[in-house]
Amino acid sequence: MNEETLLSIVVPCYNEEAVLPETIKVLTKILESLVNEEIISSQSFILFVDDGSADKTWQLIRTQSEADSAIHGLKLSRNFGHQNALIAGIETVSDHADCVITIDADLQDDVRAIRTFVNKFYEGYDVVYGVRKGRDQDTFFKKYTALAFYKLIAKMGVNLVQNHADFRLLSRRAVREFMRYQEENLFIRGIIPLLGFRSAKVYYDRQKRYAGESKYPLKKMIQFAVDGITSFSIAPIKLVMSIGFLLVLVGGGIAVYAFLNWLMDHTISGWTSLILSIWIIGGMQLIAIGVIGEYIGKIFTETKKRPRYTIEINTMYDENNDKEPL
Ligand code: UDP
Ligand code: MG
Repeated sequence: MNEETLLSIVVPCYNEEAVLPETIKVLTKILESLVNEEIISSQSFILFVDDGSADKTWQLIRTQSEADSAIHGLKLSRNFGHQNALIAGIETVSDHADCVITIDADLQDDVRAIRTFVNKFYEGYDVVYGVRKGRDQDTFFKKYTALAFYKLIAKMGVNLVQNHADFRLLSRRAVREFMRYQEENLFIRGIIPLLGFRSAKVYYDRQKRYAGESKYPLKKMIQFAVDGITSFSIAPIKLVMSIGFLLVLVGGGIAVYAFLNWLMDHTISGWTSLILSIWIIGGMQLIAIGVIGEYIGKIFTETKKRPRYTIEINTMYDENNDKEPL
């Protein structure tokens, strides 16, 4: 144990006013107990990242950060998305923290696992993954789409930790290496295993959202899955190419068949097969173009090298805040 170890907990929040007061309470409690037991430094703190919320999320964070020196807030200038909010938080605390834990605001992840994360960190692990035991609390739909996603992405050779979301601990050097991944569409849970550091898993039961609604509607979920896959694998393009070759082969077969028929003076009726082929092949071509478009789109966004987030207020350095900067 080393009471010099400064822990930062980073919490992305998007329209979380319903749950935030409880989250603040629960996380503060766990942080306090770790500090009191001299497991972590008394300078440890929680950073709430407001990802452009339209509700009272920022006011809640702001008020709390003024009342409690262990709470800080980062206000992004607009909604940049869950992953970018996490990146903003991690990069902001990286100068201070010896280890960083990221956790969602909705208390779905078991905060008691935080203590185990820290223990694992002291055992020498640079990365600690929170892995949920089951998906009983998920809706039927979420459970099976998530399962299908993990299966698919594993088939494509992407190394993901099953049933692990963004509840994890990173050591200072893991954070430092993580920050060298500058891609615009950063799929964090795909990158962390690539760092190659020694990692541990901590299993926990995932709860239902404490309050509020999921901020991942179907459309965002699909986008997230497509981004996850296309950022890591060109398997879809290869698949499209194989299908293309297959279609050409079938086409060749049909041509031979038609030629033989012509030799034997048979007329070809088959309007159905013709119209079906047109639609099916047309559809496949569009899909193929779509897949390629997805990659070209990625190249386009990556070449622009735009910043991934913009900070409007950081209570750690905000001049309106009378707190000493850390
Ligand atoms: N979130 C965010 N920006 C967004 C969407 C979500 O910062 O654009 C945060 C949200 O406040 C929560 C976490 O990301 O803390 C995970 O979102 P949510 O719990 O809604 O996702 P789910 O658990 O339903 O997958
Ligand atoms: Mg959630």
